[in-house]
Amino acid sequence: MKPTKRIINRIAVTFLLLLVVGFPAAAQDQPLQIKYWLAMSQPNSHLFEVTIEVNLPNDLGLKSLDFQMPKWSPGRYAVFDFAKNVQEVKAREACPAGLDCTTPSSLVTRVDDQTWRVELESKRPGMSLMFSYKVFANDLSGTFSQLDARHANFNGGCIFMYVVKHKQDPVALSINAPKGWRIVNGRSEKGDQSEFQFPNWDVLVDTPTEIGPDWTDDEFKVDGKTYHVVVHSLGKEGGKRPLLVRDLEKIVRAETAMWGPPEFDSYTFLFHFANDGKSSDGMEHLTSTQIIMPGALADKDAPEETLDAAAHEFFHLWNVKRLRPLELGPWDFTRPANTRGLWIAEGITNYYGHLMQRRAGLWNDAKLFGELAEQIQEVENSPGSKLMSAEESSLAAPFIDDAPHAQQTNLANTTVNYYPKGEALGVVLDLLLRGRTKGATSLDDVMRRMYEEFYLKSPNATYYLRGRGYTAEDFEKTVATVAGSDLSDFFKRYVRGVETPPYEEAFAQVGLRFVRTARAPVTLGITGDENEAVNFKIASLRPDSPAAAAGLQVGDVITTFGENRFTAKNFSKVLARYKPGERVLVSFLRGTRPMSTTITLGGPQLFDFRIEEDANASAEAKALRAAWLTGQYRGGAQASSPASTRGACVPNGRHHLTSRAAITFAAVAPPPTAPAIVGASGFATSPTANTFATLVSCWEPTIT
Ligand SMILES: [Zn+2]
Ligand SMILES: [Zn+2]
Repeated sequence: MKPTKRIINRIAVTFLLLLVVGFPAAAQDQPLQIKYWLAMSQPNSHLFEVTIEVNLPNDLGLKSLDFQMPKWSPGRYAVFDFAKNVQEVKAREACPAGLDCTTPSSLVTRVDDQTWRVELESKRPGMSLMFSYKVFANDLSGTFSQLDARHANFNGGCIFMYVVKHKQDPVALSINAPKGWRIVNGRSEKGDQSEFQFPNWDVLVDTPTEIGPDWTDDEFKVDGKTYHVVVHSLGKEGGKRPLLVRDLEKIVRAETAMWGPPEFDSYTFLFHFANDGKSSDGMEHLTSTQIIMPGALADKDAPEETLDAAAHEFFHLWNVKRLRPLELGPWDFTRPANTRGLWIAEGITNYYGHLMQRRAGLWNDAKLFGELAEQIQEVENSPGSKLMSAEESSLAAPFIDDAPHAQQTNLANTTVNYYPKGEALGVVLDLLLRGRTKGATSLDDVMRRMYEEFYLKSPNATYYLRGRGYTAEDFEKTVATVAGSDLSDFFKRYVRGVETPPYEEAFAQVGLRFVRTARAPVTLGITGDENEAVNFKIASLRPDSPAAAAGLQVGDVITTFGENRFTAKNFSKVLARYKPGERVLVSFLRGTRPMSTTITLGGPQLFDFRIEEDANASAEAKALRAAWLTGQYRGGAQASSPASTRGACVPNGRHHLTSRAAITFAAVAPPPTAPAIVGASGFATSPTANTFATLVSCWEPTIT
């Protein structure tokens, strides 16, 4: 790991700025010097040993200090109560260096399910408090942590308590790793680094860290930024690592082409190939991502699946990590986060993760269209999509995002997932924008403008990060500004409402047909338990189905269907002999009790979707499609600069560049300052800096 020192300098400058600005939250409590010590002396015990050293100022009027384990951690919205894995909590005064002294234990009281309190009244002024505990960790994941004989991989949210009211204070971290184990994370500056500084606790836990003897680090550079590809393979690699690194670079190039070069100097892809058939995750961070694949890199589809995850997580470094909904940072870790914006933060990221693989040249058109159709299919075939809107789904994230459920729930029938729902809305919005403005604007422009306005240009609203979070209304307003027209109807019907988005109209803008075909002519509305070989055991049941209307329920075992016996395997074949409207006598067992009912069979309820080229598409629609699929940003201008002016473009054709004209700007000059023009071709007279505003305001991304 060799990022430059500028990262740390930037952190220091940011922190100074924050002190000068003086946020209300920070003003009331004098900052403390806080250092985390992390040890792992018994890897097989899966117990991390954490000590939080707090240097208390001489004049501190504090009677006690609270230490709190978060209930959840950013990026995964389910509540996991990390305090459940905490044990052996203690506190003592530090023995001043060079003195032979005893250090009596301090009184620690657990005050609720996540908080421990240390009494300070009898403490010496200026003393250091050493608050320590162990935390059990044996899950390789983007949220949990793992310590075993092979490695330590931690995500700080489930390991490090914060000091209540001092989450905003700068913190240090010192890691005592087993001999021969090397430490790496998105903020490493050199290979043998074990000491780290963070501007606040939130950034500490945003820095997943791998510690082990045998991970590898490959790197590449794009736009002068260094990208590290750290791989810990717990299975065979089959010589595929160079290909993975090569294709990651393509993804980085495609995504930075849209956003412009990121603000950091170094970024780390942290991969695990767990080879256990179950560990699977991806998590976004400010200067890194943690991606865990269940197989080995040598497995057949492993590189492709890994790149799919990476394209998504890398896009997050803009969308959600920096450009973020208002509620996503800093956080209150005593209750789950509630935001209406996850369909944007996750769903639109999901859309771009797929689109970018096409733009990077890793996918062909058919692969992208197939993936988009699959996401739309998941939404439109789910009964919950008619009950829950994209915004409500975002608010329900704590129940949806890998949440454990001890009780039976009806969530499968009542929720829609904000990942595919947001992706479906993202592609529809993108294509409608492109179509209505004849290619002058797109969702790319919306996202860049949001990033500029809320991250780059807004004054810092909190200690946590640059800029401020956006509201649902901010996003809607930006879409309207970029589109140059009112889109409130779209948001009312498809974002806050549950109407089916206008897929056909959207894909037609780029000369594609959106085709819906019935999966089966007859519907019962149930699925069978695949493990049941003799009879048909109902595994799921739609509430709006003929089976539900006839009184069947999940767990019922159907013994005869009309004259037939059937299983999950031959179910479709048997059903195909019937027609909608036919009435069928069904015998079934509910527990051991034999019962029967008559079902009136229904028409198609599940559909397959596909996206295909329209042979009669106009040249204009084909050009829009090409611009969409390739994301052409011509001329070397930094993408974010023209975006803000392009949104105001009225495409009257007068100032449009032609298909043969290109213009090259020097990179980076935030509007209204025009970047210098360093090259142009295809113009009757060479454009000058004075013509910049006119040119850029109608600059189309389709120019080649
Ligand atoms: Zn590892
Ligand atoms: Zn995501």
